[in-house]
Amino acid sequence: MMPILFGRTTQNLPIWGNSFLHQGPSILILGGVHGDETEGVIACLELQKLLFEKKDPFKLNITIVPAFNQDGVLAGTRHNANGVDLNRNLPTKDWEGTAHQKKYQPGPSPNSESENQALVQWIETHHPHFIFSLHSWKPTLNLNGECDEVAKILMKKTGYESNRDMGYPTPGCLGTYTGHERNIPTITYEIERGSSTQDIVNLHPPALMEALSFLEKNQNES
Ligand SMILES: [Zn+2]
Repeated sequence: MMPILFGRTTQNLPIWGNSFLHQGPSILILGGVHGDETEGVIACLELQKLLFEKKDPFKLNITIVPAFNQDGVLAGTRHNANGVDLNRNLPTKDWEGTAHQKKYQPGPSPNSESENQALVQWIETHHPHFIFSLHSWKPTLNLNGECDEVAKILMKKTGYESNRDMGYPTPGCLGTYTGHERNIPTITYEIERGSSTQDIVNLHPPALMEALSFLEKNQNES
């Protein structure tokens, strides 16, 4: 396990991650894209612990960034320190400058935010094979790109359902940027909002370990 400086926040705080380095395909796991959705931060922290304790068991190049929107996590806000929704600010073809609701502030221009600039650069450099982005809302897995097999494993372990459409517009989101436009399978993993830390720890990191195990076994087929 190697700590990495993934990028810097709007307030110039470091965004730390950990990489579990192997020659295998690169997997990115994000938590805390929305700073008030700490369920995903908790799941990422526990997943790191499991990988560390099991001595990095997968021949995958896994990078985990538990608190991507570090400023928002510290402030307990959905937005970053500029008041921007980072999951509406990515430079997708469907990016829109006006918010459908106040909470979906897309920022002044696509990829205007330092956190997303770091993310875009990381994706361009590492060409990830699969992305998980851990949020919280109604329990569901939003699928973008070829991720049905991995989703099946997560659904079986968690009892969650999956969808290919959140049911409302999400311009500038990660699923569109990587899943639709770059052919990188991306699961936006909505942990049930308000779950206790213990429930999160018991359910989601083990489910993600099974998903990673599947990705390791099937890396040569995709
Ligand atoms: Zn979210």
